[in-house]
Amino acid sequence: MAAGSQSGGTPKSGRRVPIVIVGGGPVGLMLALDLARYRVRSVVVNTGESHRVFPKGNTHNARTMEHYRRLGLAERVRAVGLPPGHATDVGYFTRLDGCELARLGMPSSREKLAARDSGAGVDQVPEPVHRANQMYVEAVLLEHARGVPAIELCYGSSCVDFADERDAVRVVVEDGAGGGCEELQCQYLVGCDGGQSFVRHRLGIGFEGEGSLDQQFFSGSMTSTHLRARAWPSTSSTRRAGCTGRSVPNARCS
Ligand SMILES: Cc1cc2nc3c(=O)[nH]c(=O)nc-3n(C[C@H](O)[C@H](O)[C@H](O)COP(=O)(O)OP(=O)(O)OC[C@H]3O[C@@H](n4cnc5c(N)ncnc54)[C@H](O)[C@@H]3O)c2cc1C
Repeated sequence: MAAGSQSGGTPKSGRRVPIVIVGGGPVGLMLALDLARYRVRSVVVNTGESHRVFPKGNTHNARTMEHYRRLGLAERVRAVGLPPGHATDVGYFTRLDGCELARLGMPSSREKLAARDSGAGVDQVPEPVHRANQMYVEAVLLEHARGVPAIELCYGSSCVDFADERDAVRVVVEDGAGGGCEELQCQYLVGCDGGQSFVRHRLGIGFEGEGSLDQQFFSGSMTSTHLRARAWPSTSSTRRAGCTGRSVPNARCS
C-alpha cells in the first residue's frame, strides 16, 4: 500500500528515527521509558491528545509495581491510588446503596507495605500489588515521559499506514488536528495500540485461545464507572470496598 493512500495526503519528509511506538497507553509509554533507560530514542504516536480520562484497569500487580519502581515511579503511582488506609476489598452489591452480596477481603496499602517490611528476607515482595485507576497512572507515566529527552511524544496523531521496506519501516502518521501527514522511517515499529490494534490487523495477526465470550468472567458487556465522593451511600455493609461490582440487567457493572 502506498504511503499516505489511506489518509489522502502526501506525507511530509521522511525523517529517520530508531523506533516508532504506535499507542501511548500504559504498554507504549512503559516501553518508551524502558528504552530511554538504555538510551534508545523512540517516537510515541497516540491517537488521543493526552492520557485517557475514563476508568479502565485498576489493579497493578507486584511485578508491574516493580517495573514502576525500576523507573523511580512506584511512589508516585502509589500516591494516585486509594488512600493508604483504605481497604482494597472487592465487594458485590445489589445497588450502590443496596445490599452486600459477597466480598473478597483484602488489606489496605498500608497493611500490605507493613507486611512487606516485617516479612522474611527470602519471601519479600519489594512492591506489593496496588490499586490505582489506570487513567491516573497513565497521567503519571505521560508526565514523566514528557521530561525524558529520548522520548518524542506525538499525541493527537495516528499511525494510518506502514510498510516494511527491508532496510527501514516506513510509517505514515496523520495529525488529528488536520495538520496533514508525516512520514517516518524507523528500524522498528512496535504496535502497542491496544486490543483492536491497527498494527496487528495490518500484519494479519489474529488472537489465539479462548474468545472473551466463551469465558465466564469478562463475558458480555461491561460498564466501568469511577466514583469519587466525600460521603459514600449507606449500604448494609460497614466496611468500604476498594472495588465494587453491581448487578444490572444484561451486563456487568464495576
Ligand atoms: C474495565 C476494564 C478493567 C481492567 N482492569 C485491569 C486491571 O485491573 N489490571 C490490569 O492489568 N488490566 C486491566 N484491564 C486491561 C488493561 O486496561 C489493558 O490491558 C491495557 O489498557 C492495555 O494497555 P495497552 O497500552 O496495551 O493498550 P491501550 O490501553 O488500549 O492503549 C492503546 C493506545 O493506542 C492508541 N491507538 C490505537 N490505535 C492507534 C493508531 N492507529 N495510532 C496511534 N495510536 C493508536 C489508543 O488511542 C490508546 O491510547 C482492564 C480493562 C478494562 C476494559
